[in-house]
Amino acid sequence: MKTVKSVYVNGKFSTPHGTASTTVISPLNGQAIAEITYADQVDTMHAIRAAADALPAYSKTTVEQRSAYLKAIHDEILKRIDDLVNATIVEYGAARERARWANVIAATTFLDGIKVLENYPFTIRVNESTVIKEPVGVAALFTPWNATAGAIALKVAAALAAGCTIVLKPSEFCPWQAEIIMECIDAAGLPAGVVNMVNGSGEVITEAIMASPEVTKISFTGSTIVGKILAKRAVDTMKRVTLELGGKSANIILADADLQTAVPMALQAAFMNNGQACIAGSRLFVPASKLEEVKQLLVTAAENFTVGDPREGDYKLGPLANKRQFERIQQYIQIGLDEGAELLVGGPGHPEGLSEGYYVRPTVFTGVSNDMRIAREEIFGPVLSVISYNAEQEAIEMANDSEYGLMAYISSGDPAHAKELAKELKTGRVLINTLKHDSMAPFGGYKSSGIGRENGGIGLEEFLEIKTLIS
Ligand code: NAD
Repeated sequence: MKTVKSVYVNGKFSTPHGTASTTVISPLNGQAIAEITYADQVDTMHAIRAAADALPAYSKTTVEQRSAYLKAIHDEILKRIDDLVNATIVEYGAARERARWANVIAATTFLDGIKVLENYPFTIRVNESTVIKEPVGVAALFTPWNATAGAIALKVAAALAAGCTIVLKPSEFCPWQAEIIMECIDAAGLPAGVVNMVNGSGEVITEAIMASPEVTKISFTGSTIVGKILAKRAVDTMKRVTLELGGKSANIILADADLQTAVPMALQAAFMNNGQACIAGSRLFVPASKLEEVKQLLVTAAENFTVGDPREGDYKLGPLANKRQFERIQQYIQIGLDEGAELLVGGPGHPEGLSEGYYVRPTVFTGVSNDMRIAREEIFGPVLSVISYNAEQEAIEMANDSEYGLMAYISSGDPAHAKELAKELKTGRVLINTLKHDSMAPFGGYKSSGIGRENGGIGLEEFLEIKTLIS
């Protein structure tokens, strides 16, 4: 069986000091695929030391040098793209097309970093003063299991572009993909200590990171509950914090929308990445006058969302990432039924013929009200709640009546009107008649969906301190 590496410190992979170990299970069939021994606090302290020692030299590198490192990482990831796609399928269960798309985006994120550096003004004049923007220091980067390469790339590219050194803590639940990305960074030939990785229990590694005043930045992507814990603890040493957290995104179909386009797109928004997406459009608001038509279209369109082993065919959904996820989704489907929602598509249990592995039935509930748990809590699986409304303003109010504010979607025949409505939504992004990704524009959430933004120049600034010089 494969042994996944968990510690990369000072320019090399090393045997962990930690001794706790676990087996990585493939969600495709529940079989063991790898072993990992977790990094511990001692490993983390070594990683912090290496990053702190590498900081003085790396923080003084030129934009050209840093761009060359970003380009080298991009090239190394592309060389390993087939390995990454395979690991993303076998370890995580991604559909094949999704696995390729997500890993190519991870590579191109490093080119985005170069584009940002081409134009970014690190020195500006403000009134009578010179204002310089300096790297914030040693950055601890926490990433989740549902977007391993993509989340690592976003943070590593921005931190490196800014001139920071790094302690990377990927999710311990998808360590094989993280290992490959770390091998790519290793092959890119950065100075030793600039990027370090410790993979293991979040709680254990966080202890060492929070205790160290040398770590001056936390950039965390993950659940809102853990993000809040980290943010509270970061205050003790006043670490700067960026949080990319959960969502319960609203998708509003307006009465003038082309339903033939809007309804399949709504399912795509809800079921993307097997439904395990922070930006999943998991609440669908439909005009009451169009509800019957939308229901029929949902039933028809749902047939295209096929589920199966991504190694065996071009399925739209693979299994959920692990047993805990499978059980969580089963519980939420039961909660929906208990709350009195009507099952339109899917339901409890495995899809037919897929009793091994963690496959679930993509599910659509209608007759949902915005105060039901299935409309308020982040389910993080392919479960869509359809909520009807009478007036547009009622839809906006219900969309905003959520603890989260990451993303929103609007379908309308009048894009100018949709843009006006978008201004009323309390979310970091609004997609109008599209599911397009813009990797250079800011991404992040209002309310409990986070603090700060990633991507582009604004994302870079999350890794910079500002200094005013007056002479
Ligand atoms: P998680 O919060 O459980 O874990 C995220 C990271 O934190 C992991 O590296 C984990 O090891 C670490 N961690 C877990 N518990 C910890 C603790 N008690 N103390 C310190 N560290 C701890 O999140 P997850 O389950 O890996 O990811 C799913 C969540 O991430 C969902 O809520 C999803 O919406 C969110 N997410 C958000 C974005 C975004 O950009 N907003 C992107 C992807 C995922």
